[in-house]
This record gives sequence, C-alpha cells and structure tokens, in this order.
Amino acid sequence: MTFSELPLRDDLRGEKAYGAPQLDVPVRLNVNENPYPPSAELIADIARAVAGSAATLNRYPDREAVALRTDLAGYLRLFEGVEVSPDQVWAANGSNEIMHQLLLAFGGPGRLVLGFAPTYAMYPQYCRDTFTGFRTIDRAPDFSLDVETAVAAVRTHQPVVTLLTSPNNPTGTALPPATARAVLAASAEYGGLVVVDEAYAEFRRPDTASALELLAEYPNLIVTRTMSKAFAYAGARVGYLVARPAIIDAVRIVRLPYHLSAVTQAVASAAIGRADELLAHVATLRAERDGTVDWLRAQGFTAADSDANFVLFGRFDDRHQIWQRLLDRGVLIRETGPDGWLRVSIGTAAEMAAFREALLSAAAPAISRNEESVTPALVDRKDTA
Ligand code: PMP
Repeated sequence: MTFSELPLRDDLRGEKAYGAPQLDVPVRLNVNENPYPPSAELIADIARAVAGSAATLNRYPDREAVALRTDLAGYLRLFEGVEVSPDQVWAANGSNEIMHQLLLAFGGPGRLVLGFAPTYAMYPQYCRDTFTGFRTIDRAPDFSLDVETAVAAVRTHQPVVTLLTSPNNPTGTALPPATARAVLAASAEYGGLVVVDEAYAEFRRPDTASALELLAEYPNLIVTRTMSKAFAYAGARVGYLVARPAIIDAVRIVRLPYHLSAVTQAVASAAIGRADELLAHVATLRAERDGTVDWLRAQGFTAADSDANFVLFGRFDDRHQIWQRLLDRGVLIRETGPDGWLRVSIGTAAEMAAFREALLSAAAPAISRNEESVTPALVDRKDTA
C-alpha cells in the first residue's frame, strides 16, 4: 500500500509532518534550544535518578506524577515567588503535549481557538488534530498586541481558548499584564479560557511580569511552561501547566494512561534539584540576547525587542538566500515569521560570534566578480523600529 492509498483522514490529506530541519552543522541556532549541555554533576544526578526508577520499571509509573508536580510547584515558589500547590500543576511530555491535552479537553468540533499572528506554528496543528477551529488576529507592526483589538476579537469570536504567547514565538514579544487582564476579563464574560504560553518566560527581561501572578485572580487562566528552554532539557520532554485544580481534573480525563514515564519523571526532578545552576546559564543567555539585539541594530538591521532566547531580525528581500548562505557558512538559523525576517536562537558566546561573522559576509552584496551574481539582499538597513 503506498502512502496515497492509505485510508488517511480526509482532512489530513496533503498535510506534511511538521519540523525544522535537523542538520548536523557546527552552529545550530534554529530551534531555540539552550546551548549548555547538562553539567557533570547533573549528569551524575540524572544517572542516579534513572537507576532509581529502573528498579521498578516492571510497574507503571505514578499516573499522577505527584513527586514531580510537587517539585515543579517548589520551583515556582522559589524562583517565581508564586505560591501554587501541586494540585494546580500538571506535567506532560513537553508543553506540546500539554497544549494537545488542553485542546483534547476543551476544543473539538464547533469550537474555536484564537491566537495572535505571527505566533507559534504548532497551534494550528493542535487544533487540526483535535478538530478545533483556529483563527488568528494580526499583531501590530511592532508585534505587540493592541488591547482593544484583542478584547474586541475575543468578544466577537468567543473562542473557547484564547492563546496568548508570552514571550511570543517567533517574535520574542512579551505581553504586558494589563493586556492579559483585559483578555481574561473579556473571556470570563462568556466562560472562555485563556492559555498564556510561557515557554520562554525565564528569559524575560527584569521589568516583564509573568502571568503566574494573575492565577489567584482569574479562574479562567492557564499558564503553560516547559523545561525545554531555561532548564536546557529539550531532550527530556517535560512541560507543565499551572491552573486551578478543576482544569487539571478536565485534562486528566483525556490524558493517555501513564503518559509520563517513570524515567522522565525522575530525570525532571533531578534537573529541578539543580535549578540554581541551570538558571545561571539563563542570565548568560539573556545578556547574550541583549547584546545580539544591540549588535544587529548597530549594523543597520531591524531586530524585534526580545524577552526570549531568540531574536527575530531582518528585513531581507530574499530571506531564504540569507538563510542558505548562513548555512553554507556552518550556521543554521530559522526561516520563520513574516516574510523578510529570520530568527536566530541565542547560543554560546562563541556560537554568536560565528553567527555575527557569517551574517556579515552572507548579507554583504557581491563584491567580487568571481562571486555568483546576487542582488543586495538587505532592504531597510536604516529601519530600527
Ligand atoms: N510553546 C512555544 C511558544 C514554543 O516555542 C515551543 C517550542 N518551540 C513550545 C511551546 C513547545 O515546547 P516543548 O514541547 O519542548 O515544551
């Protein structure tokens, strides 16, 4: 049976598997990974945690992941100063799975999810897979979210879930709490939920607040987080949500039995035990991010303000050409966001130096007649909006 002969769901015909290229190049700055691998001490803790869970792998894991949820609540108390109990925390295999579970529980035929574009490319896919409608409203030219536009959209479309991504991917834009409050209040008028996707929250700048602070006030708020970025644990696949216990009871209806393996739960707790050490790298990455934004602007590029571990910059006549030229120089970044823009994830100082060097030569107009014929790729080099 060939692929086209398979009895694939009609609505999936023509769809492709999603994913950024996983290329083996020296400098990989394309999927917002944290460039710092686990320390020797953390590796030892992970090994101990795996050995501990190995002894009982004949048994199913704790379906409720109570120890991990307790550790996550402890992390939020210590590092975000937010008091949440373990029954307000729910964990799954990445925040991807968290969002999928949320839409299994709250989406479905005849229901709508609202997002603000440009935003995370997976949202339409979670909706597709759960037969949920998906609609986006455009952000302002500086990628911020106009409060009145957002509130009007919520009132008009009455989405079951409004997705506020803060910091937003791929733009890096954080959401002022006043905007979140306005959207939460408008959604509460008809019983709608609001998910604030805070996958990158630990990278936010000092004066940027987390929506976690609004949890006590708004019962329709769900904050999602991940260990993939700040904890440098993308390979472990651990994400979580924080909300009132009733929301978690709803998600528990649709989660697959024993969705989070005993090994995953144990290694996640091991990393939380070293949160201090991992978050020290976050400070380094934040400084590197701010330096990257400044440098891009000094070169005459446009760079969006970023509260995340990546920067959206441009603008290019032919962004694919720039992306390819960087790749030819061993630097993989991401061709994403509105046309003309590219996104670079923040790596180590050495990786960012390689990126800067590659970009300068990739974006330089042809200077030698030996070089292939190219048109100057940059437009708007003076635009620093
Ligand atoms: N939300 C946003 C905005 C993201 O950018 C990502 C990953 N790139 C995720 C959620 C999912 O991350 P994970 O499944 O690794 O937790």
